[in-house]
Amino acid sequence: MVKRVLIANRGEIALRIIRACRELDIETVAVWSQADESALHAQLATRSLCIGPARAADSYLNQEAILSAALATRCDAIHPGYGFLSENPDFADRCVREGLKYIGPSGDVIRKLGSKSAARSLAREAGVPVVPGSDGALKNLRQARSLAEAVGYPVLLKASAGGGGRGMRQADGPDGLEQAFQEARAEAAACFGDGELYLEKLVVDPRHIEFQIMADTQGHVVHLGERDCSIQRRRQKLVEESPSKALTPALREEMGRAAVAAAKAAGYVGAGTVEFVLSPEGQFYFIEMNTRIQVEYPVTELVTGIDLVKEQLRVASGLPLSFAQEEIKVSGHAIECRINAEDPEREFVPCPGTTTFLHLPGGPGVRVDTALYTGYEVPPYYDSLVAKVLAHGSTRLEAVRRMRRALEELIIEGYPTSAPLAHLIMHDPDFVRGRYDTGYLDRNLDRLLELARTCDQLMEGDDKQ
Ligand code: ADP
Ligand code: ADP
Ligand code: MG
Repeated sequence: MVKRVLIANRGEIALRIIRACRELDIETVAVWSQADESALHAQLATRSLCIGPARAADSYLNQEAILSAALATRCDAIHPGYGFLSENPDFADRCVREGLKYIGPSGDVIRKLGSKSAARSLAREAGVPVVPGSDGALKNLRQARSLAEAVGYPVLLKASAGGGGRGMRQADGPDGLEQAFQEARAEAAACFGDGELYLEKLVVDPRHIEFQIMADTQGHVVHLGERDCSIQRRRQKLVEESPSKALTPALREEMGRAAVAAAKAAGYVGAGTVEFVLSPEGQFYFIEMNTRIQVEYPVTELVTGIDLVKEQLRVASGLPLSFAQEEIKVSGHAIECRINAEDPEREFVPCPGTTTFLHLPGGPGVRVDTALYTGYEVPPYYDSLVAKVLAHGSTRLEAVRRMRRALEELIIEGYPTSAPLAHLIMHDPDFVRGRYDTGYLDRNLDRLLELARTCDQLMEGDDKQ
């Protein structure tokens, strides 16, 4: 088993990895930027080291600083978490060259799947349905035009190196194609340093359904069921749940088999996620594979009872998976709400600030993953995720009720968060019925926020009487 792990990350995921290591008697080394000296991950690890200034490029993305820290503290493994270096194939290679175990798939596998256009080809060759579109990267606008004509509008122009919903533009017809092409390319170049694009037909009103994969070095590949991540703002997830109301047992089995086939074709090792869009007619299409632990993996932990971070550590140590496909049982229903320091009233602009008061929910079926504490100052340099609130129940409606109750108990003072919006979503009839697609939030946001404003005004009036 690995003995000492350096965690190349921060926030709730760094804490989660420290916790798994503690339970396995593995020592941890936390790294922190100058903005994170008082962050919990820096306090709770066995050891912790400063690796540079606040800017991520100078610290959490600084490969030299992280590798030197790992070697100086005699770590034998590095966990990249999500975001930052977690999908950087060169970093995975460098870890291995320095004699460190990289907790994730090899650099070669990350490279194969990291280019989303190449991953499409790989999936298609493995017999997994992909969205109709380009065969590999687009050469130029002219090629985009003829492909769009062939598959039919609307289409999406997507960055091969994309992630986090960035570098993607929709064209509804030939007139909008050039602008979408230029904008997607410019955003891709700015965000990822790579303007390469590919084209997909837009699947109208789809669900985002993804399958959690685990694979070991002995060649076992299993899936742990799906997550429905269709509640999105700007193509970024806000609420996730498992199981999905949209899948029948037969469809679940078919999609699970396809996810495993894609992972096997890539030679996958470790935890990963195969993402699909599912059309209202029940046709599913591969969109990408994320070669890391994701933000929403705890949803799967709650319904399967499997500790995915411990399993990652087992696999990195060369041990086989601790379960076979037929031993994985999904029990009850789980929902996650991402709590971001952001203002839904102002287009979700990030709102970092000082946490002047914090109260976290608890009780049966509630889990909170967070690195917040009262007095903690959320730095402006990183992702705005500050907490993940999860609810598990024996039925979906019990999970919804528990989530409502948990969000009512949650108090975060000092900056606006997405928690009140999540609470509204939990009361929306369409959500309660499980009838929603990836366009749900865009269609309903104004109505939900207006509802909240009206209620607030009525309550204020009552206070004055
Ligand atoms: P995805 O949206 O790719 O399915 P997750 O939502 O699980 O995966 O993880 C997204 C996380 O990865 C974000 O919270 C962020 O930390 C990081 N991330 C990925 N891509 C970007 C990006 N382009 N800009 C900023 N953060 C990103
Ligand atoms: P990222 O790498 O940024 O996570 P994805 O390719 O996973 O990008 O797409 C992000 C989201 O965009 C999906 O969850 C879905 O809502 C939407 N999307 C992506 N591709 C399509 C498509 N072909 N048709 C419809 N929606 C899509
Ligand atoms: Mg994605």
